[in-house]
Amino acid sequence: MSQQENTYDYVVIGGGTAGSVIASRLTENPDVSVAVIEGGPSDVGREDVLTLRRWMGLLGGELDYDYPTTEQPRGNSHIRHSRARVLGGCSSHNTLIAFKPLPSDWDEWETAGAKGWGAASMETYYARLLNNIVPVDENDRNAIARDFVAAARTALDVPLVEGFNREPFTEGAGFFDLAYHPEDNKRSSASVAYLHPVMDERPNLTLLLETWAYRLELDGKRVTGVHVRTKDDEEVLVHARREVLLCAGAVDSPRLLLHSGIGPAGDLEELDIPVVHDLPGVGENLLDHPESVIVWETHGPIPENSAMDSDAGLFVRRDPGAPGPDLMFHFYQIPFTDNPERIGYERPAHGVSMTPNIPKPRSRGRLYLTSADPSVKPALDFRYFTDEDDYDGRTLVDGIRIAREIAAAEPLAGWLKREVCPGPEATGDEELSAYARQVAHTVYHPAGTCRMGESSDEQAVVDPELRVRGLDGIRIADASVFPSMPAVNPMVGVLMVGEKAAELIGGDAR
Ligand SMILES: Cc1cc2nc3c(=O)[nH]c(=O)nc-3n(C[C@H](O)[C@H](O)[C@H](O)COP(=O)(O)OP(=O)(O)OC[C@H]3O[C@@H](n4cnc5c(N)ncnc54)[C@H](O)[C@@H]3O)c2cc1C
Repeated sequence: MSQQENTYDYVVIGGGTAGSVIASRLTENPDVSVAVIEGGPSDVGREDVLTLRRWMGLLGGELDYDYPTTEQPRGNSHIRHSRARVLGGCSSHNTLIAFKPLPSDWDEWETAGAKGWGAASMETYYARLLNNIVPVDENDRNAIARDFVAAARTALDVPLVEGFNREPFTEGAGFFDLAYHPEDNKRSSASVAYLHPVMDERPNLTLLLETWAYRLELDGKRVTGVHVRTKDDEEVLVHARREVLLCAGAVDSPRLLLHSGIGPAGDLEELDIPVVHDLPGVGENLLDHPESVIVWETHGPIPENSAMDSDAGLFVRRDPGAPGPDLMFHFYQIPFTDNPERIGYERPAHGVSMTPNIPKPRSRGRLYLTSADPSVKPALDFRYFTDEDDYDGRTLVDGIRIAREIAAAEPLAGWLKREVCPGPEATGDEELSAYARQVAHTVYHPAGTCRMGESSDEQAVVDPELRVRGLDGIRIADASVFPSMPAVNPMVGVLMVGEKAAELIGGDAR
């Protein structure tokens, strides 16, 4: 291919959640050409991907990069971090629970140096989203999930929330909003909402699928393109006339920067990667929402109707001074025993689970390379439960206790035969903490590894216009730029980052 054929105005690396939004928005202008480099295949026509209820079948399969965690002395070292290798990225294999980040989440970003990202100014990007965000359909509302909501309200005196995106909330129980089409249980992922309607119609949009970006091309401090390996194992350089937009997610965006010599100089030198640009924050500030699990056996089978088996949940604010919720639960109408089974618990034939998680976790981890070979997966050290005051560990203990209060309240209590794990005999703080951490899981929300901040902030990787500090011709837009974790599930926040990025880029191009 000649250089001319391989040159586009914008090269988007990663056709995932944010990347799909950006590619779609930029190509609304027919004079702008965009190439999307996507490691995975298309999701078009793939029922296994497009059917929301089949999400669990995708975990660990051929469409999953499946990243391990490093040894976690105070947590669970066996957690596998699913990251989707398919058009639409993680919005093509996640559960599509759709929460607009709370005003306090955005304002926290602005305070952390993300000027222009405060709650009032972000509202406009939510209004632009093309995804079909709707409450869980009446037909999908399982009787036991309804009774979980009712029991949570009785036990904790929290409000019923109908439509978590209607008003900012601090507490409440209810069915979620989902980005889906209830009539056929199909996803309204980033690819479905933003790319499918336009991908065959816009000659200015090129999707390079099953193509892996392994190193950025720089001319001095300007990023001019990206080296990729195609499906046929060819190595090709794709050139960007205006900008490269890095949207490979919280694991693969810092990974690509590091392999391109952009990151903490000392770490790069240790691996003999030539340092192109010393940027100490790359890979730092690794965030996640850790969760634990408590499982009950039910007296018998549960009705099967559902959107995706975890359709309702609960937010609690234990600290009345906190700006938002400080404990969250997903209610699963299945026995979610994957982690407890590893330490000897059994899986009941019929059961339900509550998974308390930490909306604002305080532990901070780190992503780093262990090899200069770009095909070697990076190390993810989440440092789960290592914050100084053990806030994270204590939150999960509170979660288990609160879960038991809900389980003891009608109308849920009548369904439940016995607590399977940790089991009613586990009552002490230390015992509950040890259990909660040993079986801890992830809500699959890694973020923060190229965090945004003021241009004077040494640890920031991008400035509030999403430009990589000290370089030209490259921005990052995905979950990696989050300065801190929203209290709610992050996908809508990522979509909004995509919308704002498209505006910033379009604005600059004009
Ligand atoms: C199982 C699961 C369930 C979840 N459930 C929810 C939920 O219900 N609600 C919610 O709000 N959040 C949920 N999340 C989190 C949410 O989906 C993610 O935070 C969000 O989708 C991340 O978007 P992103 O754009 O940062 O990255 P991604 O969507 O992961 O996009 C990255 C894209 O880049 C591609 N890519 C990566 N590296 C390269 C490379 N080097 N070359 C070429 N292509 C590359 C990938 O193939 C992928 O398509 C869940 C996540 C998972 C895994």
